[in-house]
Amino acid sequence: MQLSHRITHLLGDGDDGWGVFYRARAMKAAGRDVIELTIGEHDIRTDPVILEAMHAAAMAGQTGYASIPGIPALRDAVAARVQARTGVATTRANVQIMPGGQAALFAALHATGDQGDSALYVEPAYVTYPGVFRALGLTPCPVAAQPEDGFQPRATDLDAAARAAHRPRSLLINSPNNPTGGVYSQATLEGIARVVLDHDMWLISDEVYDTQVWEGAHLSPRALPGMAERTLVIGSMSKSHAMTGSRIGWVVGPEAAVARLADLATHTTYGVPGFVQEAALFALAQGDGLEAQVAAPFLRRRALALDLLGRQNIVRAQPPQGAMYLMLDIRATGMTGEDFAMALLEQHGIAVMPGESFGAAAAGHLRVAMTVADDVFVSALARLLDFAAERAA
Ligand code: PLP
Repeated sequence: MQLSHRITHLLGDGDDGWGVFYRARAMKAAGRDVIELTIGEHDIRTDPVILEAMHAAAMAGQTGYASIPGIPALRDAVAARVQARTGVATTRANVQIMPGGQAALFAALHATGDQGDSALYVEPAYVTYPGVFRALGLTPCPVAAQPEDGFQPRATDLDAAARAAHRPRSLLINSPNNPTGGVYSQATLEGIARVVLDHDMWLISDEVYDTQVWEGAHLSPRALPGMAERTLVIGSMSKSHAMTGSRIGWVVGPEAAVARLADLATHTTYGVPGFVQEAALFALAQGDGLEAQVAAPFLRRRALALDLLGRQNIVRAQPPQGAMYLMLDIRATGMTGEDFAMALLEQHGIAVMPGESFGAAAAGHLRVAMTVADDVFVSALARLLDFAAERAA
C-alpha cells in the first residue's frame, strides 16, 4: 500500500545527517567500543527526588487522562518562571504543556503556516527542523549564519530571505544554539525582531537550552517591544532538568494561539501524563539550584576542552557561550566534516556529528557533545585533535 508523500518525504532524500550516529549505534550493537559524543543526552539520569515525586503522583491516582492544556498548577509554574526571567506578563492562558520540546516545535510550526507557506530558519540548525517543515508542507528557507560572526544571523540576510520567500510566515531561531553554542546578543535579537515585524511574521524561539549559558545572558525575544503577540517560545525540561525521557515541555505565546494549540493537542497527543506533569511541577519548585547542578558538568568540560584546544592550532573553536556542545572547525585538515567524522569513528571508535548534518553553513565543522565523564571526554577530544593533526600533515 502506498504511503503519503508527507511521511515518505519527511527525511528528504538522505539520512538527514544521522549517518554517523546510526553507524555508531550499529558498531556498538556489534560489540565494538564506541565513545558517543553525538546526541544531547546528559550522562546523569533524572534526579531521584523528581522520580519520587513522579511515583507519588502516580500512586495518588494521577494516571488517568490529564487536562489537555496542562494541569493548572504546572501552567502557573511555567508562567511564573517565564515572567520572572523575562519581565513579560505571563499567565497560564499563555502556556500549553506539551510532551517535549520537539512536539512543541511541531505544534508551533503547525499553528503558524499552511501548506506551501515559507518558514525561515537559521542555519546551522538543530537536525530535526527541516523534517518538521517537510512534514507540515512548509517550504524551508534556511538563512546561513557565518562562523566569522560567531554564528549570529545578520538581519540583512534574514530580510533578504523574507523578501525572496513565497508567503513567509515564520522565522525559527534557537538561542542558546544547538549546534553552535552561540547565545544571541541583544543587537542580534533586535535585528531579528525588526525583520519579523517588517514582514508580519511569527517568531518561533526555541529556548530549550536557556539554563545553560556560559557567557553573557539568555535574552528571550518575546520581551522585545511588539514581540509578545507574535512570538511562540519553545521550552522543555529535557536539558534543564535531565528529563529527556519524561517528554515534558511547553509553548508560551499569545492566548488565542495557545487556545488553538490545545485543539491540536486534543487531536494528537491528548495531553501529557499527569504524573509526569506533577514531577515537572515538583522539579520547577526546586528552583535554580537543581538546574545549575544539571548544567555544571558542561561548564566544567567546556573549560577542559578550551584548555586542550589552546595547545594546538589545527582545530579551531569559538568557545561555546551556551548549551552542551563544542563546534570545531576542522577545515585545516582539508576534510569535510562528514569524512572526518566517519574516519574518526571507524579508526578510533569516537562518534561526533558532522557539521554538514546541521546545514551547509556548518560544512567543515564537527559538533562534539560534552556528554560523557570528564576523563573519557578529555581522552576522546585529545585523540580527535591528534587525528586532525595527522590529517593536516
Ligand atoms: N530544540 C533543540 C535545539 C534541541 O537540541 C532539542 C533536543 O535536542 C529539542 C529542541 C527537543 O528537545 P525535547 O523534545 O527533548 O524537549
